[in-house]
Amino acid sequence: MSPVVTRTPEELRAALAGLDGTVGLVPTMGALHSGHASLVAKAAEENDHVVVSVFVNPLQFTDLGDCDDYRDYPHDVDKDVAFLSDKGVDVVFAPEAEAMYPQGVPEVWVRTGRMGEVLEGAWRPGHFDGVATVVTKLLSLVRPARVYFGQKDAQQLMIVRRMVSDLNLGPEVRAVPIVRAADGLAESSRNQHLSPEARSRALALPRALAAIADGTDLETARAELAAAEGVELDYLEIVDPATFTADPEGTLALGAIRVGGTRLIDNRLLG
Ligand code: AMP
Repeated sequence: MSPVVTRTPEELRAALAGLDGTVGLVPTMGALHSGHASLVAKAAEENDHVVVSVFVNPLQFTDLGDCDDYRDYPHDVDKDVAFLSDKGVDVVFAPEAEAMYPQGVPEVWVRTGRMGEVLEGAWRPGHFDGVATVVTKLLSLVRPARVYFGQKDAQQLMIVRRMVSDLNLGPEVRAVPIVRAADGLAESSRNQHLSPEARSRALALPRALAAIADGTDLETARAELAAAEGVELDYLEIVDPATFTADPEGTLALGAIRVGGTRLIDNRLLG
């Protein structure tokens, strides 16, 4: 079965009107891979219908998308739709930015507060406000029973959980474990940008997280990662996953590095 492809909120509403029963929503930015497929599989298992959004949201990028990271983000909706065929997806919502933000940059945003300002939020100011704002729009358009997020983006997952609870947005937020390639690198749309050499250098990040899980202390793991060839370390921290405050006794280790111009994040639950 091929999904119905919708490009505007109006087309999406018309497609949703034809569905009976529970809907699971999987928000993505496209360039779909096996990590996304795992979210879709769980959504198909737990709901009568599945909606996948494919939208590279400019609000969550530096300078509201006026940056190379946004311009270079892989974008091929036809390929994504082909990837989703026969995966139990009823509707794909793939709007252009003009369809999502017809009046340009919104006046009213969702503000994520301290949890959105640490770690990824410190390196990407405004990022989580952009995420929270677009997720709120998607939830209000689709009104799903459940919405699916990957543990890969652990901070995003926890912020969305808090947002849905704090703002009574309604859906159950379901988390899906990180899908890794055979070499241990977490699957990511950005991995397409890695040369074979950069990819092998990037493995220093999952190795550092594994070392922490095996008992290496944070300082040592951080020093080793910072010294790894071709790796620029943004952060390596252990936090309390409920609040994202640094906590040596915390149960979540996370890191971000840049390798050959590509920024990668990863994390690992401890214990
Ligand atoms: P993205 O398209 O990168 O914004 O990701 C869309 C959703 O897929 C987010 O909830 C991500 O956390 C999730 N996701 C991305 N990569 C992975 C992965 N390797 N394993 C599990 N979930 C993932």
